Amino acid sequence: MESKTYLRIVALASLVSIVFTSCSTVPVTGRRQINLMSDTEVVKMTKAAFEQMKASHPISQDPRMNDWMLNVSERISQQVFWDMPLAEWEFVVFDVPGQINAFAMPGGKVGIFSGLFDLVKTEDELASVIAHEIAHVTARHTHERMSHMGIVKLGSGTSSILTGGLSGLVLDPTLTGHLAAWDRAKEAEADRIGIMYMARAGYDPNAAIAVMEKMAAMDSGAGTGQAWNSTHPSSQERLDALHSYLAEAMEEYEKAKELQF
Ligand SMILES: [Zn+2]
Repeated sequence: MESKTYLRIVALASLVSIVFTSCSTVPVTGRRQINLMSDTEVVKMTKAAFEQMKASHPISQDPRMNDWMLNVSERISQQVFWDMPLAEWEFVVFDVPGQINAFAMPGGKVGIFSGLFDLVKTEDELASVIAHEIAHVTARHTHERMSHMGIVKLGSGTSSILTGGLSGLVLDPTLTGHLAAWDRAKEAEADRIGIMYMARAGYDPNAAIAVMEKMAAMDSGAGTGQAWNSTHPSSQERLDALHSYLAEAMEEYEKAKELQF
């Protein structure tokens, strides 16, 4: 066999094996997906990114924000244990007023910006935001995103995937709406998984609706509506979808409350 052809076959075979070994199933929704990035690679990159975040942003000393964050972190991380068994959890409140945003990374690094508390007024509401962010991780949206970029940038090296990926990884456009990154299907999936996680952790799923109502009001107040990006679901659209998950989430919430008391 000509060696070039042989090499092509080997390359194809290894790609096929990567694809087959990299299929996984999204929690709650059961969607099948392909991931070409290994957990180890992704976690290594996100760990470094989180360290960079901590070095470049002041950490909030606000007792109320940190208390809520601590409670939410304990209850939600327990709930997602089987979806992220190897997580090295770390939850940080960054002191960045005006930045209404939050993120979670594969490997268990979670950050919120103090500006989020302009929007979030109860621990349950905070739990809904954190649960949504962690849902992006357990649904492996970050892996999918990086796998996609890996395919696009194949051959240009890991560093470009890293630099190209960080802005998308670090900030969920959910709240500020300034990054046009995630497609609407992924937002919807994270909303659905998130509301179930918070409910199972004993947080009232109605708080997810309350947060989304405030975001919808912000959307219309800003006059941007849904025009700014057709791939980004409007808060109104997400609010309607959340209402359709509410009954199922309430059942989980009632069960969780029975276990707690
Ligand atoms: Zn999101």
